[in-house]
Amino acid sequence: MSEADHEVIVIGAGPAGAAIAAQLASRGRRVLVVERSHFPRFSIGESLLPQCMGHLEEAGLLNTVQAAGYQPKNGAAFTRGGESTAIDFRHKFTPGWGTTFQVERADFDHRLIEAARAKGAKVEFGITVTAFRADPDRPQVDVVDESGNASTLTARFVVDASGYGRVLARLEALERDARQAPRTALFTHVEGCPVEPSHDREKILIGVHPDDAGIWYWLIPFRNQRASVGVVGQTERMSAYGDSTEARWQALIDAEPRFRQLLGGSRPTRPIAELGGYSADVTRLHGPGYVLLGNAGEFLDPVFSSGVTIALKSASLAAPLVDRQLAGEAIDWLGRFEAPLREGIETFRAFVDAWYDGRLQTIIFHADAPRDIKERISAILAGYAWDRRNPFVTDSARHIDTLADLCERQAASRASGSGTA
Ligand code: FAD
Repeated sequence: MSEADHEVIVIGAGPAGAAIAAQLASRGRRVLVVERSHFPRFSIGESLLPQCMGHLEEAGLLNTVQAAGYQPKNGAAFTRGGESTAIDFRHKFTPGWGTTFQVERADFDHRLIEAARAKGAKVEFGITVTAFRADPDRPQVDVVDESGNASTLTARFVVDASGYGRVLARLEALERDARQAPRTALFTHVEGCPVEPSHDREKILIGVHPDDAGIWYWLIPFRNQRASVGVVGQTERMSAYGDSTEARWQALIDAEPRFRQLLGGSRPTRPIAELGGYSADVTRLHGPGYVLLGNAGEFLDPVFSSGVTIALKSASLAAPLVDRQLAGEAIDWLGRFEAPLREGIETFRAFVDAWYDGRLQTIIFHADAPRDIKERISAILAGYAWDRRNPFVTDSARHIDTLADLCERQAASRASGSGTA
């Protein structure tokens, strides 16, 4: 692989890497994607948000996704101790896509990177990046192939889209503690989920543990009665449910009546996986001759399925800037990329924090929230976390506080029989 072959090296062929490779190749840039694994490969993160669709469109990847025949998704349903409620993303404050898909990532990621290749990106699988030398004009990466052959690649720009590999965060000492409490996820895929009229397969189902509101469940239906199922909670609290991954899984599924019922006739198609320590952050998302996208930069929490949306958003923001930098323009990476990207991540963070401290659960399970407020919340949960016209974006924590307080007072007055707040 000679330098003349590529202007941009992209580390990692997940959604962020595929999207920026597709965008830059479409602009005529010579792009090389290096990916350590071989596709298709399993990855977690299967429930997309409608905001993704616009970014897939920008990358020229929407047709590929629409043609794949994935399970459509139009919202999120919630269950807690026999109560149930739902948010329909089609009823939302921000204009744009209100529906999306639930995707098996092995297939989704494979299709995206093949589509990027069809647009002209060069993709090499089985190549691991092991070292990096930052430089504003000629950054270098060291790579090793599966036979142990090492080489050095030079480009004009490097994009780190290595996800949980966190290549430049490690090599450039950018890592900083995530502000989330350490949590663990247990998950698997199942087949043979019974089709039940009361279960809306076009929504992700989120359940809350009956005795511990900090533990939550997901059920992401795929086509053909298959689904992704998972449980998430603080690591130490999860470990109290059994001595092995399988024992914890069974005890946790048995504890939630709706999940126990829906999964009754199903069979796991892969071993139960246990993953912890996935929340991560970095001190900065850019440096001389490089940028960090998606999970290679910051990852918050799985609860609102924001990961792939943030990955695609970061690719959409970065692609034109990389192109302009290669054309000789000086780019303000902090002002044009990092600050705007982090703004939406902060919106999601406020929602994630409010989920775990109970305020958002109070809001979501409150039946009488006014329609305009519901639509503002729906917009965020649909991924429109960057829409500054939505007060839940510009001042998330204060609006969540006020609304949770109102919902609590209404619920209390209803319980005491007065009927008004
Ligand atoms: P990735 O998809 O991780 O891709 C990175 C690629 O880089 C990989 O293919 C990897 O092999 C490659 N790589 C790594 N190191 C190297 C190296 N040294 N050299 C070369 N290649 C390398 N998100 C959602 O949107 N919806 C969900 O429902 C959802 N659920 C989740 C549930 C859990 C339990 C967790 C932990 C996360 C979830 N996420 C979800 C988040 C989602 O998994 C990620 O946000 C998303 O995959 C990030 O995409 P990416 O392109 O940044 O990285």
